[in-house]
Amino acid sequence: MPLPAFELHRPRSLDEAAACLAAMPSARLLAGGTDLIPAMQQGLCAPSQVVDLTSARDLAGLDFFPDGGARLGAGVRLSALEFHPELARRFPLLAQAAAAVASPLQRALGTLGGNLCLDTRCRWYNQSWSWRRACGFCLKKDGARCHVAPGGERCWAAYSGDLAPALLAMGADLELAAPGGVRRRLPLPAFFTGDGARPFQLQPGELVAAAWLPGSSAGWRGAYRKFRVRASIDYPLAGLALALDLEGPRIRRGRAALTAVNPSPRLVAGAETLLAGADPRDPQLADALARLVRQTAKPLSTSSFSPAYRRDILALYARRALLDLSAPGCSFNAGICNS
Ligand SMILES: Cc1cc2nc3c(=O)[nH]c(=O)nc-3n(C[C@H](O)[C@H](O)[C@H](O)COP(=O)(O)OP(=O)(O)OC[C@H]3O[C@@H](n4cnc5c(N)ncnc54)[C@H](O)[C@@H]3O)c2cc1C
Ligand code: SF4
Repeated sequence: MPLPAFELHRPRSLDEAAACLAAMPSARLLAGGTDLIPAMQQGLCAPSQVVDLTSARDLAGLDFFPDGGARLGAGVRLSALEFHPELARRFPLLAQAAAAVASPLQRALGTLGGNLCLDTRCRWYNQSWSWRRACGFCLKKDGARCHVAPGGERCWAAYSGDLAPALLAMGADLELAAPGGVRRRLPLPAFFTGDGARPFQLQPGELVAAAWLPGSSAGWRGAYRKFRVRASIDYPLAGLALALDLEGPRIRRGRAALTAVNPSPRLVAGAETLLAGADPRDPQLADALARLVRQTAKPLSTSSFSPAYRRDILALYARRALLDLSAPGCSFNAGICNS
């Protein structure tokens, strides 16, 4: 489908971008465009105004602080997150997750802000207009019924970004910008609504300015494991991020988070308490973590693989990630895994 006509606005700064959004509430933000443009081509949205963030220079900064923390501008490209040596040293989990997104082409264009604000995905929704029309559309767009949970009144499309679970596991905050220089910070979990149709807590005129990583998570070991159909390019069908702060043979602190199995990315409930003080090589710990992962993951039939299989995969990933991160030879980087 050809792109629908739209008016393009090119603000030069974050404040100008927020002012543009406030003046045109139905406008859509465009960063790398790797999610928005395909959505427009599929007729999933047809904004008459588009605000292009690529000229807003103050969105693209990467700042590192003496306490170990960092501020990552929303306009930073995924390829910069993947290859930045200081970021890889302090937050290897984030570099791994960035490297797992799509293919090098999307990573060269895609941004942190666009990745966090990725629209939720569903096999009934991410289709051409004629495909969706043949099925009577669905309540996320143009229809009245959910094909995944018929009879329900909400959308269960899966949040499918790769960066969010890594940022959750590292305890990140988001900085949101509104017109007039207004800024607010909120813990990342509070940014996601859990509603597949309206996934983000953004007020009119607000946009994501940056993610803040706390110094307290710097140097933690991390593993990001992702299940997808084609390892070269696909979105996650299930993803797990595990971050551990090890002190000798024991875990001082740790967190686990999931993506692609709920309408929002989720911290694994109870994992932080479970991991604190534990021996990462204890088989009972692996069993218990796998159990918590299964409880947090609530996949539905939004993708081509069954919910049961996706939950099983995540439980397996939790066990493997624990073992990998506790291996004596493990530096910080436990690698990405697709199976
Ligand atoms: C073939 C293919 C495979 C892909 N595979 C993956 C994958 O494996 N994992 C993955 O995570 N993603 C994947 N993607 C999606 C996409 O490439 C990435 O998520 C990318 O990071 C999106 O960033 P962007 O800057 O291109 O977003 P854009 O397309 O520019 O924007 C995405 C959304 O975020 C909004 N937005 C952008 N910036 C901001 C901001 N600062 N504040 C508020 N809202 C904002 C936009 O309005 C839009 O709704 C894939 C895409 C394609 C085409
Ligand atoms: S979960 Fe239901 S409402 Fe949401 S996109 Fe899928 S079919 Fe549509």
